[in-house]
Amino acid sequence: MGAALLTSTLPENLMAFSPHQEKQMTTITSDMVAKMRASGATAVLKTEKLHELIYVITGSGGNVAVLNGPDGKVMVDTGFGTSEKQFRAELAAIGSEPLKLLINTHWHFDHTDGNEWLHKAGATVMAHENTRLRLSTPQEIAAFHLHFDPSPPDALPQQTFLEQSKLYLNGETVALEHYHPAHTDSDIFIHFQRANVFHAGDTFFSGRYPMIDASTGGSIGGMIAAADRTLALVDANTRIIPGHGLVSDRQGLQEYHDMMAEVQARVGKLKKQGKTLEEAVAAKPTADLDAKWGQGSIAPDFFVTLVYTTL
Ligand SMILES: [Zn+2]
Repeated sequence: MGAALLTSTLPENLMAFSPHQEKQMTTITSDMVAKMRASGATAVLKTEKLHELIYVITGSGGNVAVLNGPDGKVMVDTGFGTSEKQFRAELAAIGSEPLKLLINTHWHFDHTDGNEWLHKAGATVMAHENTRLRLSTPQEIAAFHLHFDPSPPDALPQQTFLEQSKLYLNGETVALEHYHPAHTDSDIFIHFQRANVFHAGDTFFSGRYPMIDASTGGSIGGMIAAADRTLALVDANTRIIPGHGLVSDRQGLQEYHDMMAEVQARVGKLKKQGKTLEEAVAAKPTADLDAKWGQGSIAPDFFVTLVYTTL
């Protein structure tokens, strides 16, 4: 699997590994960040219009949203910093309005790696206080053996909040709110209330098993609670932008929520019976769900590991 992993398409398949390959992973992931950044240099971006003023740009790291208008562009997340050239082209194609604000959904580098160039290009960077805290100090993601040095000063958010914030620009009302720790402890949502478009960050992996970063506060219980919070705020017509995967809706989010609750219950039962992590993974508790949810970057065995260890 290691060779296949290395030669497969970056970056999606980089994370598809089983927990029994710990030793191998150490080698593979030591330069995983460098590989993902390198993939950003040649990434082909695609812009989709979701609403009169709102666009989603995919193809480099997490899904990026753009609100355009006379008050200037508001961008949500950045993809990899190495995709600067491609993002500049996509932003210019959307319109000539200047870049005003960049909002980070959370601290992970596939969502914040472009902070530095975007700030230098004129954007004020806004995020939850924990995103600034995590970006300004060394971080580890133990599940992937990843280490991150502190980001340069220009990459740190200039404006932070703790619970909620609201922005009024381009005729839009933009509601921001911190989720209780879910995927990390820095997750927020961005709700374009007039347009009825919602960016859920990495609390939502549309149509696939999600990554949960226990090293910075994530847990399966928090992920389910975050999905519950989003479900309470959206309606049947809301376009929901996930951190990864296709743009979805309330129905797609509900199915994802129910899948997580089911896996939590099944793995919880195994853990309660005294099964070790290895035994729980070997029991294949998600077997009947894998065809639908196991085709993304988080392989079934790894998802069971994330659930087991964060229960
Ligand atoms: Zn993330």
